[in-house]
Amino acid sequence: DKRLHIVGGGMAGSEAAWQAANMGVEVVLHEMRPEVETFAHQTGNLGEMVCSNSFRSDDHEQNAVGLLHWEMRAANGLIMQMAEKHRLPAGGALAVDRDPFAESVTQALMDHPNVSVEYGEITELPDDGTWIFATGPLTSATLGAAIQAETGSERLAFFDAIAPIVYAESINMDVAWMQSRYDKGETEEEQKAYLNCPMTKDQYEAFIDALMAADKTEFHEGETAGYFDGCLPIEVMAERGRETLRFGPMKPVGLTNPHDPDNKPYAVVQLRRDNALGTLFNIVGFQTKMKYGAQTEVFKMIPGLQDASFARLGGIHRNTFLNSPTLLDDQMRLKSRPNIRFAGQVTGVEGYVESAAMGLLAGRLAAAEILGKDLQTAPQDSAMGALIHHITGGAEAKTFQPMNVNFGLFRPVEGLKGGRRGRKDRYKAYTDRAKVVFQEWLDGQS
Ligand code: FAD
Repeated sequence: DKRLHIVGGGMAGSEAAWQAANMGVEVVLHEMRPEVETFAHQTGNLGEMVCSNSFRSDDHEQNAVGLLHWEMRAANGLIMQMAEKHRLPAGGALAVDRDPFAESVTQALMDHPNVSVEYGEITELPDDGTWIFATGPLTSATLGAAIQAETGSERLAFFDAIAPIVYAESINMDVAWMQSRYDKGETEEEQKAYLNCPMTKDQYEAFIDALMAADKTEFHEGETAGYFDGCLPIEVMAERGRETLRFGPMKPVGLTNPHDPDNKPYAVVQLRRDNALGTLFNIVGFQTKMKYGAQTEVFKMIPGLQDASFARLGGIHRNTFLNSPTLLDDQMRLKSRPNIRFAGQVTGVEGYVESAAMGLLAGRLAAAEILGKDLQTAPQDSAMGALIHHITGGAEAKTFQPMNVNFGLFRPVEGLKGGRRGRKDRYKAYTDRAKVVFQEWLDGQS
């Protein structure tokens, strides 16, 4: 069987099908809707946007999402083509008219001579054939159980509990310091895994008040059914008692503040290194349902984070995703079953654009394999490559949580100024470099 089977006709599956079909491979796209529904999708269309109608920033010089747009356009991506066609005025963002957008994605795939669409739920990981699973954050329960049986239950999550992620360069090191609790960790590298921000009693009390008063979002109806496993939002912990956090994620024990060694902090917020490059840190235990605006306000009350910029904010959502750093190779294949690839949000990327990009990559890699061509994964200095390297290698496997594309995932460009001042030049250098290597990667395939 020389066909490519793709399960899930969302952002990733639709893009994967388009790419593989354009390479001359026959594609069968399996979609369970409208027969089996999810709590978020409203139609039976392929490429349905489940919530916002925006593909975020279209700025390909200063923004990592915009750079992904650029790369997908260069690769003749279906999602970007149809987005352009149904674009709505939205300043620098790429917003679209969602129904005509999804209808045109559906139509383009239906009209493609190499694509056939089969409606129905796939409930197992097949032993034979070449497959891409792009079943998304709302992967059906039966399939989720089958994936868990293959990966082990601790390696497929049904919720993300995302702690906010801060750019290391925006943390004030005159206030914060590096130390792992009780100085645990053998190597210097391990001891550099944690940053600490101290709080006095007054600061702690004010912080708890702000947490409780902040605007929060609710879970969607049906979202928690049978899944929520008790990873509590920080504000819920605070509501259980004013001291709960001080005895939980904010406990001050085992740490000494070198800026003020005589005074024990009343509470400590810890940040843990989030990537191998050391450019990103997550705030440990700070998953939250606070609204984004409220989060930036409240988290900037933490001493040392008063000027923090966030690579992503916190959240808790229904989200099925793999522990990709341990399960997938850089060709996006399941190591234990290389006839199966995963793509899209289920691989631990986050967002429409990132999911479509991972679909584009998986579609090309799978098609190349069927055609007997040797194709390397996207180059690390491209946005697509930075993402795939993060989820299949660079990210810490133990604390792996879904990731948006951002410049913290990029390798530094030598000889550029660090810090805030150099930011504009640095981002331009990242995007210039990315475009060159990405175009080379594409040219190598034609
Ligand atoms: P999807 O687009 O969800 O596609 C997966 C497809 O697989 C679906 O069509 C589904 O029906 C199908 N499927 C599932 N299981 C099976 C099966 N067993 N057999 C056959 N087909 C199956 N991202 C943003 O960028 N902006 C937002 O505003 C946003 N809001 C979100 C709101 C909610 C409630 C959720 C859940 C997610 C949101 N996301 C948002 C994330 C967004 O879902 C993903 O970024 C994007 O849709 C994921 O693309 P995907 O192709 O991986 O999954």
